Amino acid sequence: MPKPEVMDRTVGFFKKNLETMLHKKRIEYHSQKLRGIVQYAYKNSQAFKNKMDSVGLKPKDIQTIKDLEKIPITKKAELVELQKKNPPFGGFEGVPVNELRRIFISPGPIYEPGEMEYNELGWAQGMYAGGFRPGDIAINTFSYHMVPFALHMVDNSLHRIGCISIPTGVGNTEQQVNILKNLKANGFCGTPSFLLNIAEKAEEMKFDLKKGLNLKVGFVAAEMLPESLRSKLEEKFGMIIRQAYGTADIGCLGYECMKKNGMHIPDDKIVEIVDPEAGKQLGPGKTGEIVATTFNKVYPLIRFGTGDLSILTETPCPCGRTSPRLLKILGRVDQATKVRGLFVHPGQVNEVASRYPQISKYYTVIKRKEDKDEMIFKIELKEEVPQPEKLKQEIEQSIRDVMKIRGDVQFVPEGTIPEGAKKIEDQRTWE
Ligand SMILES: [Zn+2]
Repeated sequence: MPKPEVMDRTVGFFKKNLETMLHKKRIEYHSQKLRGIVQYAYKNSQAFKNKMDSVGLKPKDIQTIKDLEKIPITKKAELVELQKKNPPFGGFEGVPVNELRRIFISPGPIYEPGEMEYNELGWAQGMYAGGFRPGDIAINTFSYHMVPFALHMVDNSLHRIGCISIPTGVGNTEQQVNILKNLKANGFCGTPSFLLNIAEKAEEMKFDLKKGLNLKVGFVAAEMLPESLRSKLEEKFGMIIRQAYGTADIGCLGYECMKKNGMHIPDDKIVEIVDPEAGKQLGPGKTGEIVATTFNKVYPLIRFGTGDLSILTETPCPCGRTSPRLLKILGRVDQATKVRGLFVHPGQVNEVASRYPQISKYYTVIKRKEDKDEMIFKIELKEEVPQPEKLKQEIEQSIRDVMKIRGDVQFVPEGTIPEGAKKIEDQRTWE
């Protein structure tokens, strides 16, 4: 039987020496790791060597994180293409196939090599930061079939912390509720929507979610987590829910701490935010594509383009972790539009609107006037507001906060905005 709760889940670190490194030390640490993996991959990964050769680079040309810009980004489509030509891994693997433990298959199809000894740090850091502690018993409801996430990444990371995993996989909601009850499991790993399914099923089965079950911590990923859903589930179960972000190819790229102010980048990855067209690094506060580099010798992906958009921040986090953070995953690169040199995404338009309950319908129009981009946020209000000018100014400030560029707000009469209008309408013409 699990021991009564005595530990504090809200403080502490999984790897304190790494997580609290000073900025300068982290740069040195990452640069050294980078030089090591570039040397290694050049020698052992044919695809990486080809990439370096294609632009006339040698490993000695890559000394710092800034030097990464010289290496062309590897996109997912390219991975699929090269794997087709040269199966199973397209030459991206860093060890011979007979030294692997498993081969995973993700949609694409993309094959991923599974190493003998799982060494990734990120997901375990995320679970610990999210309140998981040694001795916790967790159901792992991610899919165990084919893909690497549940079996390889989540299961191994629970083990790294010292948690006991119950490999339930997806589905069988009623059975999962019974397992939670019978085993007094206190951890949940899965998607937020599946946790909601469990809550609804348990309520249908007349369980008191707090007294009848023992859930204390939830580690969620693979889906957006709206704040409203998080607080609803935390309240229902009396548990802490934290999310993490990553991909099947490269692993964890961000995890939340107790402070919920973005996702800390794990110490075993380098994450750049880049202009998806030019491949150049953008500083903190700018929207760009998440491009990641891992130090994993079995699958040494260097400058892997995730196709996801985010913003990086380096402001200190009160939790004590010193790593930079991804502010939010904003959506896919291919849905974004460039306005005055910065990327704006429908997700940001939604975020601005979600701050104002007075708004009923909205969309953004991008125009070109006198060789300058203009962004107009068109809004229908639910009802007349007492001080429209004040509200307009507030929303314009939110646009600057969220989208990092200036935009004008225009209130339009009810019925002006068509149902199902695109959130960003680009009306610019280029002749
Ligand atoms: Zn933090």
